[in-house]
Amino acid sequence: MSLRHFGIAGEIITPPFSFVATSHAIRWAGATPVFADIDPVTLNLDPAAVEAAITDRTEAILAVHCYGVPCNTAALAAIASRHGLKLIYDAAHAFGVRRGGRPIVAEGDLSVLSFHATKVFNTFEGGAIISPDRETKVALDRLGNYGILDEVTVLETGLNTKMSELNAAVGLALLPHMDAAFAARDRVATRYWEALSQVEGVTCLCPPGQKGHNSYAFPVLVGEAYPMTRDGLYQRLREHDLFARRYFYPLISDMPMYHHLPSAAPDALTVARRAADRILCLPLYPDLDPVDLDRVIEVIRRP
Ligand SMILES: *Cc1c(COP(=O)(O)O)cnc(C)c1O
Repeated sequence: MSLRHFGIAGEIITPPFSFVATSHAIRWAGATPVFADIDPVTLNLDPAAVEAAITDRTEAILAVHCYGVPCNTAALAAIASRHGLKLIYDAAHAFGVRRGGRPIVAEGDLSVLSFHATKVFNTFEGGAIISPDRETKVALDRLGNYGILDEVTVLETGLNTKMSELNAAVGLALLPHMDAAFAARDRVATRYWEALSQVEGVTCLCPPGQKGHNSYAFPVLVGEAYPMTRDGLYQRLREHDLFARRYFYPLISDMPMYHHLPSAAPDALTVARRAADRILCLPLYPDLDPVDLDRVIEVIRRP
C-alpha cells in the first residue's frame, strides 16, 4: 500500500532511528524522506526538530513509536494541523499499547502495525493499517484488492495486500494468549530492570512499571562510564552465545540510498547518532529461559 494513494509526493519528515522500512515506504511512494532528530529519552521524533524541518514541500510526518513507547502525539498532531500535514504512525512495535485507556493506534491519520515474526503479535508475516474512519478503511480495503469497486468497476491501480488465510489463522490462534505474553514480557523486563538499572554506564530506557508500552524490547544505552563500548559488549555476549541486537544501527540516514540527502548530513541528527552508537536491545521474549536471562545479566554486570 503506497502513500502515493493519499496524494503524498513531496517531503515527508521521519526519524533516522528506525528500521529501514520506514524510509523505504516513503521512497516507494515517490516522496523524499527528510530526517529529523529524536528525543534523547524516548528515542522518538523530537517535535521541535520536526517543526524546524518543515518547508513548503513538506506533506506529511511519518513518526515511529519506537519500542512501543508512544510518541508525543499531542505535539505532533498540533504541528501537523498547524501546517496542514498528514500524520502517519509506523506502529510496528506498538501492538497493544494504550494511553489513558485509548489504543495508541487511534492517533494520527493512519497507523501501520507489523505482524512480522519478531513483533509482539505475529502472523509470521503480515500487518494491519488502522484508519480513523470507515471511509478511509473502505478506500484502503479497495486499494488492497486491485482498486476493484464491484464486478464491473475498477477505480484505481490497487495492489493485492490481502493476508493469506494461513497467516490469519496463526494470528487468530495467538490472539487469546496475548495477555499472558504481555505479562511474561513484563516479568523479563522487570528482572532486567532490577538487575541492570544500577550498573554504571548502562542506561535502561523503558521502565517496566511505568506502563504505556508493551515490553516489546529491553533497550539499553551503553555509555562512556561502562568498561567497554557497545560493540564490545555486543561481541562479549555473542562469545557466550547470547544474541543482543543493535536495534537501530546504523542510522537509516547513513545507508547508501539515503546518505546523500541534505537532512542526512553527518553533523546533523546528533541525538540519533549517539543513540545508534550506544543502543543494545537485550534478548526478550515471553518464554525466555530464566537461566539464560541470568546469564545475560551476569555478562553485562561482569564483562
Ligand atoms: C518490523 C518493522 C517494520 C517492517 O514490518 P514488516 O511487517 O516487515 O513490513 C517497519 N517499521 C519498524 C519500526 C519495524 O520494526
